[in-house]
Amino acid sequence: MTYEHIKIHPAVDGGVKQGRADFAGGTLHCNCATDKVEVKVGGQTAHNHVCGCTKCWKPDGAVFSQVAVVGRDAVSVTANGHKLKIVNEAAPIQRHACSGCGAHMYGRIENTGHPFYGLDFVHTELSDQDGWSEPQFAAFVSSIIESGVEPSRMGDIRARLKELGLEPYDALSPPLMDAIATHVAKQSGALKA
Ligand SMILES: [Zn+2]
Ligand SMILES: [Zn+2]
Repeated sequence: MTYEHIKIHPAVDGGVKQGRADFAGGTLHCNCATDKVEVKVGGQTAHNHVCGCTKCWKPDGAVFSQVAVVGRDAVSVTANGHKLKIVNEAAPIQRHACSGCGAHMYGRIENTGHPFYGLDFVHTELSDQDGWSEPQFAAFVSSIIESGVEPSRMGDIRARLKELGLEPYDALSPPLMDAIATHVAKQSGALKA
């Protein structure tokens, strides 16, 4: 039995496309017809995944977002930055979105004590280039219910994610959850820094 009819995100619905080890970054642009916001990402991304949370930007009709991280020093706005607005200044991740089309161009953490400080969040589907790191798992899967997905569909959706090789988790992946817990333990002194 196949779950191909279950749509996750346009970047993976036809199968997960592998990234290239020698890929060194590229350019993201927003979805406006003209005066596109352009962001240069000067390196390969890591921890790419599909995400079911309600905060990540999703293309029209998609149930999941696709989001990866890259060092903040590698990210620079190269055109039409005046169109960018922060979605929620109070959120831990400040998502810089195009005020014209709504696409999130990059998410940045300004709190230096945050476990993921130093990493920006980017949606590489906004790039025309091939070779970006491929999605490796599905995060916050249960959260898609908060966006209005019928709970009865969750079995099929999790089955499709597994079929695509995107292990479904209801938080982040174990390595990322371990990294967060390690950070917290070092701050509290439970582990030696
Ligand atoms: Zn735009
Ligand atoms: Zn998310």
